[in-house]
Amino acid sequence: MLDPQRPYAFLNEREPTRVGCGNTEIVDVATVFLTASRCPIGCSMCDLHRNTLPQPSQPGSIPTQIRYAQQRLKPASWIKLYNSGNFFDPSSIPPQDYALIGQLCCGYDRVIIENHPRFGSRRHDRFCQHVAGKLEVAVGLETVQPRMLKRLGKQMSRDDFDRYANSLISAGIDLRVFLIVGAPRLSVKESMRWARLSIRHAIHAGARHISLIPARVGHGWNGTADSLPRVELEHLVELFVDSLDEMRRDACLSVDLWDITGDELSEPRRHLLDRFESAILHQSTSLL
Ligand code: SF4
Repeated sequence: MLDPQRPYAFLNEREPTRVGCGNTEIVDVATVFLTASRCPIGCSMCDLHRNTLPQPSQPGSIPTQIRYAQQRLKPASWIKLYNSGNFFDPSSIPPQDYALIGQLCCGYDRVIIENHPRFGSRRHDRFCQHVAGKLEVAVGLETVQPRMLKRLGKQMSRDDFDRYANSLISAGIDLRVFLIVGAPRLSVKESMRWARLSIRHAIHAGARHISLIPARVGHGWNGTADSLPRVELEHLVELFVDSLDEMRRDACLSVDLWDITGDELSEPRRHLLDRFESAILHQSTSLL
């Protein structure tokens, strides 16, 4: 049973970041999964609605949740506030809470939130005024394959994404991009091809961090999860290494491994993984 005064999860994680000269550092991050109202977009692959409320979030409840998590988490340099929806959707995060949320985040160098281009063109400025650190907005582009983007029900075209990415960067806000690897009825080969093109697109859009998310059965997919391609660690490592050369020196690429393990990895791939693992591939550890 969800409690509107408590986050539904929170954890400390470590994630790679690139510093100006191209070196990689690992940063401590406090990640808070806020209990908020349901996202009205309803993408077909999304199962986040399981942790949302049917009614709008009440003013004051989001800051209470952040405080609750902070009192239990280890100190961190960055904070992620993920609300299973869009930060600038006023039903999910009431704008009257922006100032208090900003105050609660004043000790962090970077505040990462998630949003869809449809929400809150003017609210970005309003929230930015209260954030002492760098604001970063994570956007689920998912893929640049137009038909797949439509099938996912993202309610966003590639052009919408590009315009939004531009507006964030012009406002001095960093961009993080989520990309899905694989989709129902796509072969592994096609999935890799589109993932590669999507990475390239996100790089050109100015992403500071690109996060690859292998499609998994646990997502929604409207009953078509059985036709998902079997993406193995081997494919991800290859995709990863192929894309590295194109990355900006201060940009980062990561892969959420879920439960994919390296047991079946061939020797050359194992070698590559060992080389890059500490910097790039990471898995979150739940402290709840
Ligand atoms: S992926 Fe994001 S925009 Fe789509 S339904 Fe889920 S929370 Fe909403």
